[in-house]
Amino acid sequence: MLDIRKIYVPTPYQVGPVNCYLIMNRPFTLVDPGPESAEGREGLLAGLSDAGVRPDEIERVIITHWHADHCGLASWLSEQWGVQVYVHRLEKPKLTPGYDKHAERLPFLLEAGVPSSDLEEMLNDRDPLPNPLLPLTRVNLLEGGETLAFTGGALQVMHMPGHSTGHICLYDAESKIFLAGDFILAHITPNPFIAARPEDPNQRVQTLAQYLTGLNIMKDMDISLILTGHGENISDCPAVIAKVLDHRYKRMDVFSGILEGAVLSTYQVMRIMYPGIRGFDILLGISEVLAYMDYLEARGKVSHEVQDGVSLYRLSSSK
Ligand SMILES: [Zn+2]
Ligand SMILES: [Zn+2]
Repeated sequence: MLDIRKIYVPTPYQVGPVNCYLIMNRPFTLVDPGPESAEGREGLLAGLSDAGVRPDEIERVIITHWHADHCGLASWLSEQWGVQVYVHRLEKPKLTPGYDKHAERLPFLLEAGVPSSDLEEMLNDRDPLPNPLLPLTRVNLLEGGETLAFTGGALQVMHMPGHSTGHICLYDAESKIFLAGDFILAHITPNPFIAARPEDPNQRVQTLAQYLTGLNIMKDMDISLILTGHGENISDCPAVIAKVLDHRYKRMDVFSGILEGAVLSTYQVMRIMYPGIRGFDILLGISEVLAYMDYLEARGKVSHEVQDGVSLYRLSSSK
């Protein structure tokens, strides 16, 4: 049986602390060690000390996804104590020097019709954390489907994209515990962030389709407890998964309703849904609406035409 402990590591983000998980079976392992900041290091070291574990006893770090609040400390742990880092191969390019997340997203934001004043606002709303990087050595790339062995247990690696392209979740088949990262959270709907397709950066990843596929996989699994990347554990798993799926499908009706008798850009739809949002939240809003437009379009429910570089959407039946 795996002995999994939770360590709250502070982040400067609105979401609050990130949940790092310490697995007390050999090799001692951390899942999502937290952000690269003085507070992050302190929080992690305090949590390890409470558990009676020295940092040099940690042998392995598993990263659920590339976001700075989850994985920033992986490099530090590896450089200080020779820890092996495990991450999905699709996250590696984003954890490499020179990766520019703004450049990846910009063509999609322009196509969404985001005005330059809002683009500027998003860029000026600077990330308080540095871009996380992988260490130069001791990186182990995952595909999904692997089993990571421990003394007295194992974790199965599941590739669960949607929130990020190379997001992984971990499943302990013995205790039926599911480590979810940001794939599912108790009180927040994780954002389907805009992402370019790894094989064709001019195209977007179909994030919502990926997300729904993953939720349906979870629905059919035997899960006793979900350990999330932020906030509380989820114990009533079938109910929460059903609620999230229901929320996603209802959202589709909301977006279809907004397009009733109208021809609108993604930005215009976003402003109808979220008139007041500013700064970085504009990116979250656009990501969400775009994910729905792509999903509805792939299923023939909406279509778009491009005018002056901006995609304008309409309901297919109102053509
Ligand atoms: Zn995240
Ligand atoms: Zn997160």
